[in-house]
Amino acid sequence: MNVHDDTTDKAFRTVGTSRPPAWTGARLDPLTGLPDRGGFIAEIRALQNQGAAATLVSLDIEDFTQINEAFGLDAGDELLRAVAERCERVGRSAGGHHVVGRVGADEFALALVPPASQAWAAAAAWMEDVMLHLQEVLATPYVIEGHSLGVRVRIGRAGLVRGSDAAELLHRAGFARRLGGDGYIVHSYEEKHGERRLVQALHEAIAGCRIEIALQPKVALASGALVGLEALARWRLPDGEQIPPNIFIALAERHNLIGTLGERVLDQALETLAIWGKGDLPRVPIAVNCSAMQFHDGQIVAHVAQALERHGVPPKLLELELTESKLLGNAESAMRTLHGLRSLGVCLSIDDFGTGYSSLNYLRRVPVHRLKIDRCFVRDIAEEPSAREIVHLLIQLAHNLRLKCVAEGIETRAQLAILSEMGCDEGQGFLLATPMSPWAARRHLGRNPPWMALFERTS
Ligand code: C2E
Ligand code: MG
Ligand code: MG
Repeated sequence: MNVHDDTTDKAFRTVGTSRPPAWTGARLDPLTGLPDRGGFIAEIRALQNQGAAATLVSLDIEDFTQINEAFGLDAGDELLRAVAERCERVGRSAGGHHVVGRVGADEFALALVPPASQAWAAAAAWMEDVMLHLQEVLATPYVIEGHSLGVRVRIGRAGLVRGSDAAELLHRAGFARRLGGDGYIVHSYEEKHGERRLVQALHEAIAGCRIEIALQPKVALASGALVGLEALARWRLPDGEQIPPNIFIALAERHNLIGTLGERVLDQALETLAIWGKGDLPRVPIAVNCSAMQFHDGQIVAHVAQALERHGVPPKLLELELTESKLLGNAESAMRTLHGLRSLGVCLSIDDFGTGYSSLNYLRRVPVHRLKIDRCFVRDIAEEPSAREIVHLLIQLAHNLRLKCVAEGIETRAQLAILSEMGCDEGQGFLLATPMSPWAARRHLGRNPPWMALFERTS
């Protein structure tokens, strides 16, 4: 029994062979030659680490079990290969970068990255074209034993944003597919709400001071002591739907709202410090994330100085987190800004360290206090020797440069134990504490914070 894909006479031989896998320890599905679920997730993480803004498409074959029963397992296998090959073909012809994976028995996933030079609007239009092409190609009948079979492939998608978890996105795209049934439903926030409406709502939220902060503790790994808090922006739509920061920060950057958004976050962090200063809480710094656009607009030093004065907060209680890649653009003016901030007396750290491409010479000259190791490295340290090696090197690098080292995204005791043993100074992550409202932080962060039990047992 043989299945022919009547949209091509090339049959299925090229599936998965057009490009060597980019991850180490390839995990391939023997039937299609495509990355399996683990391999696909590894590819997505590699894309995220390169800062790629991709869309994740989830696909499955409707009534695949019945097709197997009616036509036999060999026909089912050939059908899977045909679907895989069609996905590969659409990905190849799209002109950007793509990865196809077989992520379940009859489930496939396709990550699509627009061509590098495209602006956001052009990339969105490109994506729509690819989705239409994909639908069209997959809907073309498959020929089984001389019979044309109209197989329905369901499609759902999710936007792949930097910092979001690859497995979670795959799940989200799958969820969109199941909800969407016949067609595909759009699961990017901009498309769901309409970019213009979302921007308007964000504008109103900023003007109405409805951007809130959540505080996530940073802990000394040697003792468990609270050493600081990171302020993370939070935004809910009037109906209560929470929009993830990665989405609305990017939106604010695209629509020139990031300056005022950043000021709101800074104001709330300083207001929190000012209120706490009057009580008996430990006086630890609060770190505020700083976007590239804020950093490079030349105003940040003045804005920070004015805000500190307005709230009457000592500068040493404020820390600014800057993403590594953002420091690189326009290196000399970045260096002036960093020195300006340092001379105010605020602390500086490099966020998501290891994901950018810092030259070591540049790193040697930047006047920062801390390096925060990105959580993509921390995530794999218990399982992957290479991740462990990288984290070890980053800790040594920080120490050689006389900087404190902070590990982000600690989720398990094993990760905590490894990082402590490696001499990492500080840690942050869901195992220790999740981000919480300033009110909850005030309640929980007294003398004996909840994560202390972890340190009593591990020490
Ligand atoms: P970031 O600065 O690296 O912040 C850490 C992110 O990791 C936060 O996500 C936090 O909730 C999450 N996280 C903390 N511990 C864990 C863990 O154990 N596991 C996992 N999987 N995640 C953990 P969040 O709040 O979604 O923020 C995402 C990014 O959005 C931030 O990454 C930062 O780049 C940006 N962002 C957030 N607030 C602001 C802001 O006020 N201004 C600017 N410019 N960017 C912000
Ligand atoms: Mg940060
Ligand atoms: Mg980070």
